[in-house]
Amino acid sequence: MNIIVCIKQVPDTESLGSVRINGETNTLIREGIPSIINPFDENAIEEALRLKEKHGGKVTVITMGPPQAEEALRKALAMGADEAILLSDPALIGSDTLATSYALSTAIKKIGQFDLILFGKQAIDGDTAQVGPGVAERLGLPQITYVRKLEIENSKVKAQRTLEDAFEVVETKLPAVFMVTKEMNEPRYSSMRGVLRAKKAQIPVWKATDLDLDKERIGLDGSPTQVIKIFTPEPPGKGELLEGTVPEQVEALVSKLREAKVI
Ligand SMILES: Cc1cc2nc3c(=O)[nH]c(=O)nc-3n(C[C@H](O)[C@H](O)[C@H](O)COP(=O)(O)OP(=O)(O)OC[C@H]3O[C@@H](n4cnc5c(N)ncnc54)[C@H](O)[C@@H]3O)c2cc1C
Repeated sequence: MNIIVCIKQVPDTESLGSVRINGETNTLIREGIPSIINPFDENAIEEALRLKEKHGGKVTVITMGPPQAEEALRKALAMGADEAILLSDPALIGSDTLATSYALSTAIKKIGQFDLILFGKQAIDGDTAQVGPGVAERLGLPQITYVRKLEIENSKVKAQRTLEDAFEVVETKLPAVFMVTKEMNEPRYSSMRGVLRAKKAQIPVWKATDLDLDKERIGLDGSPTQVIKIFTPEPPGKGELLEGTVPEQVEALVSKLREAKVI
């Protein structure tokens, strides 16, 4: 079973307490902030390793990011992944989720044979949860989001999918794409042997030209998303409880909405 896991290196916001934004560029301030593997992606790596232990095969991790994203790949190798690929090129800087899913899906096609592609349910910095579904769509593969359990028999997959107060069971055939949640497993610690192996591992760096990426579809200029402003919303004001019977409350609410010119 060949499994590809897409991981993103993100700032360790827990160690910071909160994210800091550069008001001029509308980007995250990353300087001096330790980086980690996106926590949901650690669950994806763990699941891939467990599936490999059960069914055999190979786990390949891939990330698209700046050169220092290599650290995240070495951590995944130390956990037990077999191979890692870094997709990094100045031409990719500023890519939004559309451009990122285009670049990643092209890289996955270059990797070739695979049965499963795993993603975290979302990145804790960008937070859009769009990259996994975008990749699945571009590869024309079935996708299951919010996965908390996977059972595989031959080429059939049964996935438990987390809903707000329940879960549903969804079945599909491999190859397929899965976005995983934290409920799925407890990521393992790296062994000393794994750390030593990861330290020595050669990690190929793929450039935009290695993938023959269309320049018009990558980087800031190739990204249709424009970030106009990022700000921390004001905490909501104190609400007001309306008194009286239900008809009295409705009447009071309607008159308040009229006063505020909402209706
Ligand atoms: C040189 C360079 C610099 C970059 N700098 C930044 C930056 O400063 N800030 C930034 O947010 N992004 C940066 N990126 C990466 C890219 O632009 C974002 O990853 C992308 O927009 C993801 O959006 P998101 O965070 O909302 O992910 P989501 O859609 O929320 O992520 C969902 C899941 O998709 C996967 N995923 C997401 N991004 C990647 C990725 N890059 N590689 C592999 N798997 C991924 C993970 O499994 C993740 O759990 C950079 C890329 C390059 C090449």
